[in-house]
Amino acid sequence: MPVPAPDRNAQATPASGNRVALFCTDTASDLAKLAEALRAGQLVAIPTETVYGLAASALDEAACRRIFEVKGRPLLDPLIVHVPDRAAGERLARFDGRAVRLAEAFWPGPLTLVLPKRAAVPAIVTAGKPTVALRSPAHPAARRLLAAAGIPLAAPSANPFGYISPTTAQHVAESLGTRIPWILDGGPCSVGIESTIVALAPDRPARILRPGSISREELSEALGEAVEAAPEEAKSGAAVEAPGMLARHYSPATPAVLFAHGALPAARRGEAAVFQHRREHALDGIEGSSVFWFSESGDPADTARNLYALLRRLDSLGFTRIHIERAAHSPLGDTINDRLRRAATG
Ligand code: AMP
Ligand code: MG
Repeated sequence: MPVPAPDRNAQATPASGNRVALFCTDTASDLAKLAEALRAGQLVAIPTETVYGLAASALDEAACRRIFEVKGRPLLDPLIVHVPDRAAGERLARFDGRAVRLAEAFWPGPLTLVLPKRAAVPAIVTAGKPTVALRSPAHPAARRLLAAAGIPLAAPSANPFGYISPTTAQHVAESLGTRIPWILDGGPCSVGIESTIVALAPDRPARILRPGSISREELSEALGEAVEAAPEEAKSGAAVEAPGMLARHYSPATPAVLFAHGALPAARRGEAAVFQHRREHALDGIEGSSVFWFSESGDPADTARNLYALLRRLDSLGFTRIHIERAAHSPLGDTINDRLRRAATG
């Protein structure tokens, strides 16, 4: 394998030509090189089952600072730390009985727990907060890399701040390929939307800070007690609780407008019409090249898996507006609508 850009702080540009991210796979030799790069403070884009992450050693303050620089992410927006298992998590945060129950029920998987942090976690990771967000990813390549590196990995989504999250290695290369040395290609993400984030503060009910594919019902069932719902919009109190949950996020550059489920208007010239799932009648009277759907089957899990890839593709096709049908109401449909609302606001 060729050697990456030696200076991790170099601002690689397309003009520099030779400094583009190298694609790796989860072979033993590639993983050993990536583990070494992470231990040396370099950034590696990694696949997870939710979206691709931009990873650095969570114990290396300078490396974590570089994540914020590369993404253009404000320093007040804390990072999620990825660990192989609860034992590794216990070294970074204090797990109460509820945290143990949720980790046992949903780890490895798309659940992030916000817990009281221990001193080992640098302040830059948590934006100075006394809590840290932890997750154990299920993606096999991420797990092998965590095992090889032997360190916790801070990893926000591997996209420029505010843009649509990446769900393939190619998406990462398109927007960050000249700014990072390594991309671990683990194929398309199986879930496709970011993890459910749950805050477990002492003496307070469990609260969802960000909805994800694991529903409030599933969490309540595993805990045996009620879980508070995610705040509708990141206003006032909610903005303080989960600083990255901005009203506009995950957004295409093309203006996107949402319509109620079943109420998508016919696309006019230059506009894209995006249905939740395949509708045979959709093509009647409309220019076929401007009609799309997130899913063939209508299963919201398919919509979630395809959501960001289609939004990215639509953003590259030169439409003046993107009209999007909301998902039907269901636990996952509501999460999809949360992401669509953030893609469309503004
Ligand atoms: P991302 O890594 O881009 O998926 O964003 C992670 C999100 O997790 C942040 O934007 C916050 O909303 C949330 N988060 C991370 N750490 C904390 C924390 N200590 N307290 C509350 N929310 C957090
Ligand atoms: Mg993100």
